[in-house]
Amino acid sequence: MEKSNTDVIIIGAGISGLSCAKRLIKEGIRFLVLEAGQTVGGRIKSDRVDGFILDHGFQVLQTTYPEARSLLDFDALDLKLFSPGVAVRTNGQLFYISDPIRRPQDLWGTLTAPIGTITDRLRILRLFAGNKIKGSKGIFESTDMRTIDFLRSYPFSDRIIERFFRPFFAGVCLDPDLNASSRVFRYLFNIFASGDAALPAKGMGAIPIQLSEGIPANQIRLGASVELIGDDGVTLTNGQKITGRTIVIATEGPETQRLLKLPVKSNSKGERCLYFSAEKPPISSPFLILNGEGKGLINNIAIPTLTAPSYSSSGRHLIAVVVLDHPSMDNESLEHSVRSELRQWFGDPVRNWEHIKTYHIDHALPDQSPPVSNPAMDSGRVRDGVYTCGEYQRIPGIQWALLSGRLTAEQIINENHFM
Ligand SMILES: Cc1cc2nc3c(=O)[nH]c(=O)nc-3n(C[C@H](O)[C@H](O)[C@H](O)COP(=O)(O)OP(=O)(O)OC[C@H]3O[C@@H](n4cnc5c(N)ncnc54)[C@H](O)[C@@H]3O)c2cc1C
Repeated sequence: MEKSNTDVIIIGAGISGLSCAKRLIKEGIRFLVLEAGQTVGGRIKSDRVDGFILDHGFQVLQTTYPEARSLLDFDALDLKLFSPGVAVRTNGQLFYISDPIRRPQDLWGTLTAPIGTITDRLRILRLFAGNKIKGSKGIFESTDMRTIDFLRSYPFSDRIIERFFRPFFAGVCLDPDLNASSRVFRYLFNIFASGDAALPAKGMGAIPIQLSEGIPANQIRLGASVELIGDDGVTLTNGQKITGRTIVIATEGPETQRLLKLPVKSNSKGERCLYFSAEKPPISSPFLILNGEGKGLINNIAIPTLTAPSYSSSGRHLIAVVVLDHPSMDNESLEHSVRSELRQWFGDPVRNWEHIKTYHIDHALPDQSPPVSNPAMDSGRVRDGVYTCGEYQRIPGIQWALLSGRLTAEQIINENHFM
């Protein structure tokens, strides 16, 4: 079988692998990225279907992610922003909760929405101020517990937990039980409260495409699936051997475990994202809509075309409906049940919504139960010559994937002499 060699082999061309590659380029270190799929991006990809841009599951870029700010060219991504706040459906109605400084016109609605008590609102301000003072490092040094325990002990009322925190963080961490680490919750709450959620005009897939620019085409090999790791390199599923002194595993957590020959833990959180098109959007401003009813399949809804009109070439609106995983339901029954729920929310016009496609994502995020450690302090070194980046033994998300790629590259640069 054909052999080829390089200094560093990076397995996976998701954003963590690409971030690692970008840092190695600066040092002139020879590397080869091996990607099993046919495109770069891993879990961040966009398709073009019937004139719409469909992201692989609804996700957003937070404009305050520090690593994204330093690594990505936000202007070139042409970021389009969601409204600062959310719309919550509760008691059969939609209520808008906005940032009163950035959307003063919503102040009255925000104060009177039946989402929580006045004390809850004051506690939110206290939590926000406390997180700001602590900063990311302080948050990751704070006592770690399940988010639900943190919220109850703060203490927030059951009403605001059920109507706001639960659907919001179910959407962010795909964890409706709020079992995720309170450190993760506090970090994300801080990020959401201090910046904007955004979509690139050409779809989320534009992020890894931008990251891959500047990496020579012959240093990213697509359709190259690594079967196993050996002492002096890797073997692909087609039998080809590629030698390299250093290996970086930048794959999804369970795949990293397989490649390291560790027991594979199935702690994946999945979702289904149903895309519909409609002549008119169900709301008029680009708010994320949460299900605060405490029942139903729908967790959250977004209308990407209200944020980024370029998501549609026809002027019709695109609606993304997120359902947390229900493995027992086939796509057809799911669409039927979601549509009847949508009719209760938005009435008869839903009959004319056209279903475009449903994405079923088994591994969107890993479980983020406590304890979690500070991802900024992480090394990535597994043993001599083998490193990981991405979510393995870390927390997931765009910020941490980008950071872990850079930190792993820097450790390789410090520990090895390639010249
Ligand atoms: C639906 C959804 C919503 C999300 N929402 C958000 C959000 O709003 N905000 C946020 O910050 N984050 C969000 N995330 C998380 C974020 O997208 C991920 O944390 C991040 O993209 C992970 O990047 P990665 O490079 O670590 O892994 P991946 O993107 O999974 O990349 C791993 C790559 O490795 C390749 N690979 C795997 N095995 C092999 C092998 N054996 N050989 C070669 N290649 C291999 C895969 O094909 C893949 O391309 C979301 C994720 C999903 C799926």
